[in-house]
Amino acid sequence: MKFSAKSTALLLLLMGCGGVETDSTTDAVIDADATRWTNPRLIPICFVNRSAVSDEIYRDLLRTAVNEYARAGVYFQKWRDCRSEDYSKPIIRVKFKLGHNWDGNGSYSYGGGMSKVGMTRYGIQGENGATLWIRMDDHYPYSNRSKRKTVMAGTRAAFLHEIGHALGLLHEHTRTDYRPAHGECQAGANHANVYENSSVDYVGRPDYDSVMSYCNLKAERLSAGDIAGIRALYPVLKRY
Ligand SMILES: [Zn+2]
Repeated sequence: MKFSAKSTALLLLLMGCGGVETDSTTDAVIDADATRWTNPRLIPICFVNRSAVSDEIYRDLLRTAVNEYARAGVYFQKWRDCRSEDYSKPIIRVKFKLGHNWDGNGSYSYGGGMSKVGMTRYGIQGENGATLWIRMDDHYPYSNRSKRKTVMAGTRAAFLHEIGHALGLLHEHTRTDYRPAHGECQAGANHANVYENSSVDYVGRPDYDSVMSYCNLKAERLSAGDIAGIRALYPVLKRY
């Protein structure tokens, strides 16, 4: 089995009104200036092209997002195809971008996505009104247990990561004090995107389990730090 997994988690994060783009996967870094969702206990989400992926993937992502964000007290509403009226409202509009081929025989990729940061009604330019997209294939690999498992984990992680951005979380690995001990992501290697804007806050100590870190591209669960970051953004959830 010669599969060399290549993680392309190039998640662009469009920050605030300036449209600053940086790469995008979480103790947490938060965009203190992000527009907060009015009711973080009920965040609207819809799908631009739900039919692009298999029911299995859709249900898997739904279950993953619902179960994980529920741990932070965040729930979602709608969770259906986007309707015309949704394009003028603040709602997470998800687009599946079919770009990976997980059944290829050579190397394969997983991950990748982009999201607006915070509550917005405006879509990402050139993405059919989507405020969030993730790159994927239309189905999980049919064979090879380990590849399938990797792809599933990477896809779940990408979705959790992008929703994290949509809530107002930023990248953990770009903290200037981020010093992972493991080899995958050495100190300094991923610091290209250190936020220069003053509205970025670090919550707690660096979190090496964060779903918002590029050093952690197969994190299928929110870390305690991710949850702390969400609660810092939405103090009402602390009473949850
Ligand atoms: Zn990201």
